[in-house]
Amino acid sequence: MINILTIDVEDYPALYCRDMLGREVPVSDRVVVATRCLLDVLEGAVPSATFFCLGSVAEAHPELIREIRRRGHEIASHGMRHIPFRQLTRAEIRDDISRAKAVLEDLLGEPIQGLRAPQFSVGLDRPEILECIREAGYVYDSSIFPFAGWRYGSAESPRRPYLINTPSGPLVEYPLSTLSVFGRRLPVGGGGYLRHFPYCWNRWAIRKLNREGTVAVVYVHPHECDTVPCAYSGRGLAPARRLRAAFYNAHQYHGRAGMVDKIRALIGDFEFSSIAAHAEAQQQVLDYVTEAVSESGTQQCAAVGPGTGKGHTHHG
Ligand SMILES: [Zn+2]
Repeated sequence: MINILTIDVEDYPALYCRDMLGREVPVSDRVVVATRCLLDVLEGAVPSATFFCLGSVAEAHPELIREIRRRGHEIASHGMRHIPFRQLTRAEIRDDISRAKAVLEDLLGEPIQGLRAPQFSVGLDRPEILECIREAGYVYDSSIFPFAGWRYGSAESPRRPYLINTPSGPLVEYPLSTLSVFGRRLPVGGGGYLRHFPYCWNRWAIRKLNREGTVAVVYVHPHECDTVPCAYSGRGLAPARRLRAAFYNAHQYHGRAGMVDKIRALIGDFEFSSIAAHAEAQQQVLDYVTEAVSESGTQQCAAVGPGTGKGHTHHG
């Protein structure tokens, strides 16, 4: 089964400063260094992954976005400012994600199809946000994390890709991967879950998902591979705030040194593609099935399952 690899391109120092230290600083060049490092790791092993790029990073480093695209990957949107949607009004969300889409489209001269919300701040319990995403022109979303987390998560939502009919039109949802163990859902295979936990756990979990016929949607941040300490500290902040910032920073840096090796192992053990490539393969399977049904009944369809795009390509 071909799984999905997604990369959330954002600048850790700038977000850390704003969210933890209460200071606005320009987007740094660490995001360029870290993303290029990740691009080199993927070279030759993953022909195409989906890079959800923050609009502010695209404005600061347009050449980086062009380079990602030139190296064969799909560019999608991570919004403009990386403010969780639960803190924004519907009009503010629409403005943020429309601007990011326009910035990326102007840069590349091609349509941007997908969105990942900052901090996975989308759930089925707020259908107006999904409507807003479709309204802004996105055709797929990959923001819903189907588990009960303390910072994010939508516990009751499906664990496989599915279609959501919003009043603005259809939106395909690619949920982040979770494993169901003894009735509990656990997030697997990406970000901090890859960084903090042993690789063998992640490999076991993705294999289990694939055996169940579920495509894994894995996410990584370039900065998770960047071991250079953040240039900003909480000096001058009140002690409690400074402690909170230091704790957050330590948590964000934990496991970074081993991350590149884990990603290398991951892309060695599993095959990955972008969401766009996956969707195209699914469409080809669907076309094949539709044609097979119209030609000789439903029996031929049994061999065609989800995620088996390879080998069933049919150009009708
Ligand atoms: Zn993010």
